[in-house]
Amino acid sequence: MIEEIKNSPELMLFGIPASPGIAHGPVFRFLHDEVKVATYEVDESDQAEEIKRFLEALEMTKAEIREIREDVAKNLGEKEAGIFDAHMLVLEDRALIEDVKKEIKESGENVEQCVQRVTGKYLAFFDQLEDKYLRERAVDLRDISRRLQRCLSGTTASGTAFLEVPKVLVSEDLTPSDTAALDRTKILGIATDLGGQTSHAVIMARASGVPAVVGLRGLTEKLKQGDELLIDGFEGVAIINPSETTLFRYGKVDVQRRKLTNLVEKESSLPAQTADGKDLLVWANADTPEEVEKSKSLGCEGVGLYRTESLFLRTNSLPSENEQYEEYTCMVKAASGLPLTIRTLDLGGDKLLDGLNQQEEANPFMGFRAIRYCLSNPSVFLNQLRAILRASAHGKVRIMLPMISGIGEVIRTKEFIAQAKQELDGRGEKYDPDVELGCMIETPAAVAICDLLAEESDFFSIGTNDLVQYLLAVDRINNEIAFLYEPHHPAVLRSLKQVAEVAKNKNIPVTLCGEIAGDPHFLPLLIGLGFDSFSASASMIAEMKFFARRFNQADVEEITKDAEAKVRPSEVKELIKNFYEARVSEASI
Ligand code: PEP
Ligand code: MG
Repeated sequence: MIEEIKNSPELMLFGIPASPGIAHGPVFRFLHDEVKVATYEVDESDQAEEIKRFLEALEMTKAEIREIREDVAKNLGEKEAGIFDAHMLVLEDRALIEDVKKEIKESGENVEQCVQRVTGKYLAFFDQLEDKYLRERAVDLRDISRRLQRCLSGTTASGTAFLEVPKVLVSEDLTPSDTAALDRTKILGIATDLGGQTSHAVIMARASGVPAVVGLRGLTEKLKQGDELLIDGFEGVAIINPSETTLFRYGKVDVQRRKLTNLVEKESSLPAQTADGKDLLVWANADTPEEVEKSKSLGCEGVGLYRTESLFLRTNSLPSENEQYEEYTCMVKAASGLPLTIRTLDLGGDKLLDGLNQQEEANPFMGFRAIRYCLSNPSVFLNQLRAILRASAHGKVRIMLPMISGIGEVIRTKEFIAQAKQELDGRGEKYDPDVELGCMIETPAAVAICDLLAEESDFFSIGTNDLVQYLLAVDRINNEIAFLYEPHHPAVLRSLKQVAEVAKNKNIPVTLCGEIAGDPHFLPLLIGLGFDSFSASASMIAEMKFFARRFNQADVEEITKDAEAKVRPSEVKELIKNFYEARVSEASI
């Protein structure tokens, strides 16, 4: 199933950075185990036996998945293990099971062939879907179907344990169970032709710290026997047969990076302050109690963004009020006294649930998304609001609204909150009557009317991921125009400054919670634009604090003045990058 590959001159390919780190080594080409599917006719009298074989294979497959799940939970954590819950749902899917049974009866053929045909039909359906997230889910079904065939034929999967030396794994695509079966001591890095940042295999590679680059179109075709590969998981680059000069350059980058990581770790418990003692408020973007715990250990102020759709997407369902209450309460308890900012459901765009009657939309990011979906689905919204309010009885909770574009949405939400409170009063349930309500500022409309929104809000949080896409009219998940997605754009900087000024005048706390809030390069510039509160994923907090201690107010003023004078995003990017690198390399000498 595995093929060695040979030498050719240096060739650089660009893909999507999926898991940070540099890896270099011989290529190990991973091909999925395609099980040969036998075809033969089965007498009507033997069909019951075929169905029994099918049901037994289903049970065996479930047992395998359960084992992998346990293993992943132990080694990587509960969140990553949750990926395999989706596999269990496929195996328990009544429609799929009934379709296979029907196929056995109607075709008069063996179970292997019937499973192949039915899963093939499902896969053809997934493959023609436009939605990237759902197309990526086809990988799960392909994985299950292969596993099921292996159980039917009694063969086992090949892994990586036999590799004598560690190698860089290359594949067209990887399934979550491929990734789980990899011996991480033998895999230096992962490079795939396909895949996006939301694919489950990527999430697992990231969690286990294996560098990865995906979306390297044509990589597998270009590789030959004996080739070596270098991958740069920071920038999303793969280099086939890197030259000595390239290796030297990347070797230096890698050594510097490791050195920096060690230094950052050593200072991780120090407070979030600039060199001249200006205090910064660092919050966490966290979706699990483990992430909350980790952020607390790094001294954060609380959770600035809890994306509740993570629960809905993980279970691929609309969870009941009680299920939500339990999940939110676990998060509140993990925050233990620190505020937990619970963002109401942000479904839509690229985050869709099966069977939710979400219509196919020409422009999903500009469509039926987030607060718009909630306000049009009162029972879904009220369920969530009651669950959040009940959780507020256990600690400090704040409610945050995504994708606000008009004041009416905030006012209507307040009416929903009042109704939810009334219903809880009727049931005698406890909640915090003063729970705060905040708006995400992530549409150009919200920027323009932030003075009005301030009158109806207790706090603001700027979602730069969306704000950049809406301001620049650049779909944030479209690969073809990814180069136009520029958070350094003067339009973005001016909008951020405008919100910071209004928030200051209106005396309303404002935090930044998009990806740039956790990107240390941006920190001095964002401070200069008027911010002192940042919400970032736990993995970035220590590095942000480390960098903050390497500059002072005079640096902030200078870099902001220079950045505001630039007319091109690339110039701003270079300016903040050079400043970051200069200060960090001074610190690492
Ligand atoms: C944002 O848009 O910046 C944000 C934090 O929300 P999300 O990435 O979930 O849309
Ligand atoms: Mg957003």
